Amino acid sequence: MSQDTEHVKCLIIGSGPAGYTAAIYASRADLHPVMYTGMLAGGQLTQTTDVENFPGYPDGIMGPEMMEDFRKQAERLGTDIRFGYVSSVDFSSLPHKVTVDESKTILADTVIISTGASAKWLGLESEQKYSGFGVSACAVCDGFFFKGQDVAIVGAGDTAAEEATYLAKLCRKVYMIVRRDEFRASKAMVHRVLNTPNIEILYNTDTIEILGDGQSVNAVKVCNNVTNEDRTLDVTGFFVAIGHKPNTDIFRGIINMDETGYIITRPGSTETNIEGVFCCGDAQDHIYRQAVTAAGTGCMAAIDAERYLGGKEHVVTA
Ligand code: NDP
Repeated sequence: MSQDTEHVKCLIIGSGPAGYTAAIYASRADLHPVMYTGMLAGGQLTQTTDVENFPGYPDGIMGPEMMEDFRKQAERLGTDIRFGYVSSVDFSSLPHKVTVDESKTILADTVIISTGASAKWLGLESEQKYSGFGVSACAVCDGFFFKGQDVAIVGAGDTAAEEATYLAKLCRKVYMIVRRDEFRASKAMVHRVLNTPNIEILYNTDTIEILGDGQSVNAVKVCNNVTNEDRTLDVTGFFVAIGHKPNTDIFRGIINMDETGYIITRPGSTETNIEGVFCCGDAQDHIYRQAVTAAGTGCMAAIDAERYLGGKEHVVTA
């Protein structure tokens, strides 16, 4: 085997809560996992500020710090964590062949995909500037910080509708910014939004800029794209709910996924349609998308990988 080819029992692709939890369990099961972190080591949580809903941190914790804790725990238990980007995969035969940084080849008996998803953003400079300081892509994660305050949310799909009603329970007022004259969300969700008195819907409206004092958000400038009228909304929070994109492009055409790119797993398991390939976390979950649920499926993936390998050994030695 050349220096640039290595055979491993368990390869973990991605380093969010799902990947690290899979790593912790796979290490303790003696699978000697090797993890490639991807470009954003630690995943989406490294781009957030306070995390208050992950059990075990009674005083809350900063997202990057929590992911550092995950990393340390996986490393202490023996995971070989490497910074690198999986550039292509070949799952056509066993062991699976994975190319890292277009140069190194890993032959893996099992592969755990935990590449996560990325929130879609509007692409405004001010949105980036206040990300984590009033701008968020997760109402369930960050809505609590805006209790009793006025906030705005952009989007008109099921996520936006669900998050707007969630925010309406916590906040005084929720402005919902919808770019067309209608919703994309299902009728039931729209009905719920329309029946929530503290949600004001602004149809045909685009977000122009998020305004603040340099430290936090204090308003959002919007414009009606029919009348060209500008309006400034006095809000302290701005939520972006215009969809997510699973980070699964390298698996397209290779593994079964839905039309949006979420990898399909067998219900109640992390098995994909490819033998020895498991998927956990946001790469296969468009519904919950929480650190704790991602961690739960990471645990499942490691157990599934261990049982799969155990089953194979049993067949060989029987
Ligand atoms: P969707 O792609 O369904 O909706 C995205 C929304 O964001 C659309 O209304 C779209 O507007 C709007 N949007 C996109 N880009 C911009 C932009 N640049 N500026 C302003 N608005 C923009 O994403 P969701 O996350 O809402 O849902 C993803 C999938 O998950 C869907 O299949 C959904 O049904 C499902 N889901 C189901 C839930 C449930 O069943 N409980 C809960 C949440 C999601 P436009 O309509 O004009 O294109």
